[in-house]
Amino acid sequence: MRGKLTVGNWKMHGGLAEHAARFAALAREWKPLDGRELAVCVPFPYLAQAREMLAGSAVGYGAQDVSAHGQGAYTGEVSAAMLGEFGCRYAIAGHSERRQYHGERDGEVGAKALAALAARVTPIVCVGETLAERDAGATGAVVERQLGAAVDALGAELPRIVVAYEPVWAIGTGRTATPAQAQDVHERLRAQLKRAGAGDVKLLYGGSVKAANAAALYAMPDVDGGLVGGASLDAHELMAIARA
Ligand code: PEP
Repeated sequence: MRGKLTVGNWKMHGGLAEHAARFAALAREWKPLDGRELAVCVPFPYLAQAREMLAGSAVGYGAQDVSAHGQGAYTGEVSAAMLGEFGCRYAIAGHSERRQYHGERDGEVGAKALAALAARVTPIVCVGETLAERDAGATGAVVERQLGAAVDALGAELPRIVVAYEPVWAIGTGRTATPAQAQDVHERLRAQLKRAGAGDVKLLYGGSVKAANAAALYAMPDVDGGLVGGASLDAHELMAIARA
């Protein structure tokens, strides 16, 4: 049975004081129940703070990106081994904002996921269609192409990843996919993962998830949790989502 995983993505928000308040609330109040897991992906400079403040708690943490390279002259990049040294359990790979603003392509996302796994960091591989692609009836083809690149890059390592379906039109817009829309895409992705021998990979939904809509989304058979942006900036809202 796949337990529910909720991951907060704090993006480029906040500073030491806000992060300290959130870490403290999460460390103090989060009690895992029914195999539910909670983690937060924080900006790189705050990983040391996460390691210190979440130590001994049940809350995991990770990064919002990872380099596809092991080491070398890659100014500005952070390797998976570096993330591992700071105790990261997760690294997001191929978030739509990285694809949109940094030109990340499917192949690079697969390479990032592979690099993360080599350092025992679990990649959360993001896939999702734009509104224009959905309106053109291309949702299935787009997400299968994006996931397919990870399938090709990872081979036998595929079962060790997490996948997040994040329709671009639902990210930060307040417009959530309906539970049926999410399940429809997740079912497709599940079938693709099964064909590749990785049917038990966790499939998270992301896109304007909040406490008020999480229970209905989490009730879908192929939704194994959520990747949460805006709502994760409130520690209590994030914990309420994780308990949904
Ligand atoms: C995200 O950026 O991963 C995300 C899902 O954002 P939001 O919850 O704000 O839509």
